Amino acid sequence: MTDFKIEARDRQYHGFTGNEESWEGPYMFVVGADPQYGMMDTMAGKEDISWDQEVALTRQAIEAVNAMTPRPKFFVVCGDLVQSCPGEYLRDEQEADFIKEFSKLDSKIPLVLVSGNHDVGRIPDAASIAAYTERFGDDYYGFWAGGVRFLVLNTQMYHDDSKSKEIRKQHDDWLLQEVEAIKTSGCKHAVVFQHIAWFLQEPDEEKVYFNIEKEFRLKMLEKFNDAGVKVVFSGHYHQNDGGFYKGVEQVVTSAMGWQQRATDIPGIRIVKVKEEGITHQYYEMDHIPTTISLKE
Ligand SMILES: [Zn+2]
Repeated sequence: MTDFKIEARDRQYHGFTGNEESWEGPYMFVVGADPQYGMMDTMAGKEDISWDQEVALTRQAIEAVNAMTPRPKFFVVCGDLVQSCPGEYLRDEQEADFIKEFSKLDSKIPLVLVSGNHDVGRIPDAASIAAYTERFGDDYYGFWAGGVRFLVLNTQMYHDDSKSKEIRKQHDDWLLQEVEAIKTSGCKHAVVFQHIAWFLQEPDEEKVYFNIEKEFRLKMLEKFNDAGVKVVFSGHYHQNDGGFYKGVEQVVTSAMGWQQRATDIPGIRIVKVKEEGITHQYYEMDHIPTTISLKE
């Protein structure tokens, strides 16, 4: 068990110890989404909200990740860490338990965090974003891992930027620069993590609660494709889904907690990064493998 460290600062991620810019062969990492402490009891309409179920699921996932061979390069949680928004009832308690549980992740496996709507608030503003960044680190940043360039976005401003227009402009200016920089970076692959998916199945699908407004979506996907971004990993939907925009794959990972469809099971996704491309598979909590072959 280790202390919880805030690793994302100054638009960078400081959780790796070595030089991560060069490709040294295939590796894997783990994607989780929406552990969302407190959602299950809230959705069940309970008066007394606990998050014992979510904590148990987190423990199951972290124990499995800690036991994996080879060791995952990192574990990314694609947003909605907790149910209560900044300033809401039980937020502090949920945050404290999230930090306590994720501190049980093996100290050699960096924890990469992405902000979701519950983390920065439904209508984010400077104060609600600061409430997140003070506890969990920057809401957007870039990093290298094993020769691959990764970008982490704050997509809640794409849902509603009415109170964050200036912050969103900084975010989007940064993103455009970063996407442009991918072209000459020499990276083996480029990957993006963001809570809300650009789309769920088809890049030109209509706007719904779980995707991003169409015109902006298509403009950004074209830039991603042009720069060579291979995969975008998202959560927020509480079920698995995804599709392609040209060469860009959008992967939507179901929740570590509450499921949209009663028949779905909480789980995590294992991602294999190889020279020729990136593959991934979702595993229900009871069926997470401990030995992962990077040759398959
Ligand atoms: Zn969400």
